[in-house]
Amino acid sequence: MSRDRSIWSKSGVSAAALAALCACSSLAARPAPYVLQPGHIDLERGPDGNTVILDTAQGLVVIDTGRSADHSALIVKQANWVRKPVIALVNTHWHLDHTTGNRDLLALWPKARLVATGAVSGALDGFLKRSREQSDAALADPKLPKAERARIERANAAMDDQAALVPAQPVTRDGPLKIGARRFDLHVANAAATEADLWLTVPDEQLAVVGDLVVAPVPFFDTGCEEGWKAALAAISAAKWKVLIPGHGAPMNRTQFGRWRTAFGAWLDCAHSQAAVKDCTDGWMKAAQGFYTDAEAPSVRLLSDYYVQQILRAPADKRMTYCRKA
Ligand SMILES: [Zn+2]
Repeated sequence: MSRDRSIWSKSGVSAAALAALCACSSLAARPAPYVLQPGHIDLERGPDGNTVILDTAQGLVVIDTGRSADHSALIVKQANWVRKPVIALVNTHWHLDHTTGNRDLLALWPKARLVATGAVSGALDGFLKRSREQSDAALADPKLPKAERARIERANAAMDDQAALVPAQPVTRDGPLKIGARRFDLHVANAAATEADLWLTVPDEQLAVVGDLVVAPVPFFDTGCEEGWKAALAAISAAKWKVLIPGHGAPMNRTQFGRWRTAFGAWLDCAHSQAAVKDCTDGWMKAAQGFYTDAEAPSVRLLSDYYVQQILRAPADKRMTYCRKA
C-alpha cells in the first residue's frame, strides 16, 4: 500500500488532502489502510499529538485525538467523509495533547469504545491535578488573552469529563484485540513515557503506532522514566513492523527508528555525564537532525536544555517519580 503511504511524506496534510485520499481509495479494491492526521509542537498554543485513523468494516478506529478543537474537527471531517462512525478510540497515553479530543468524538459517537491503560486515573490525582491548579490560577487573571483562556478552558473541560478519559476496562497487558473485525496487537509499556503507555502494531499493515515512546523533536520527559522507556524501545525494536508512527513528527522506517533510538541513548548518557547541558543539547540536535525542522530548532534547544537540567539531572528521588508501575 505504498501508494497511500506516500501522503505521509508531506507535512501538514490538509483535510482536503485526507478527503481526497479516501475518495481515491474508495474506488480501489480496498479503502485507505490508515490515515495520519499530523500534530505539531507549537509551544505557544500547546502541541497536538499525531492521530492515526484506521478503517474497519464496522467503522473507524482513532488512535489519539489531539488537543485543539481544530484537530478534533479534522477527525470528525474525516469520519463524515467516509460516512462511517468512530467505533473505538485508542489513547497511547494520557497526556492531554493526545486525549483532549476524546470528548468531542464521544459526544458524536457515544458507543465508541475507549482503549487505554489505567494510568490516567493516577494522573488525575497527581500531575493533572497540579496542572489544573495552575490553570485555575491563570484563569483568575483578567488580563489573560482570550485565545489562551479558551485553550485552558478546553483542557479543564477534558480533565473534568473523566468518563471520556478513563477506560471502563483498562488494558493491563500485551495481547491481541479485535476491533471491527480488524486485529490489533496491544503492548503495555510500564513506567516509560508515562506510568503506563500503550503502543500497538497492526499486523495486516505492518504498522506500529507508539505514541510518545518515539517522538520528534525531543523526548518529552515530563512524566518519563528512563529505564522503562529504554525497555519499551527495545520491545518496539523487536516487534514486526515496517512503518512506525511516532507521537509527534513524521513516520519512520526501521533505519530512522534505529537512529532515533541511538540519539535517545546518547542524550541520556550525556545527561548523566559531567558534560555541560549545552553539549548534551548540541549532541541531541546533531544526532536527531532530520527529525525536526529548521523552524523547530529553537524549541528543540529550549526543551532539551530544560529536560537535561530540570529532569534528567534532578536528584534521584525526583527523577524516579514515574518509575513506578501505574
Ligand atoms: Zn505528546
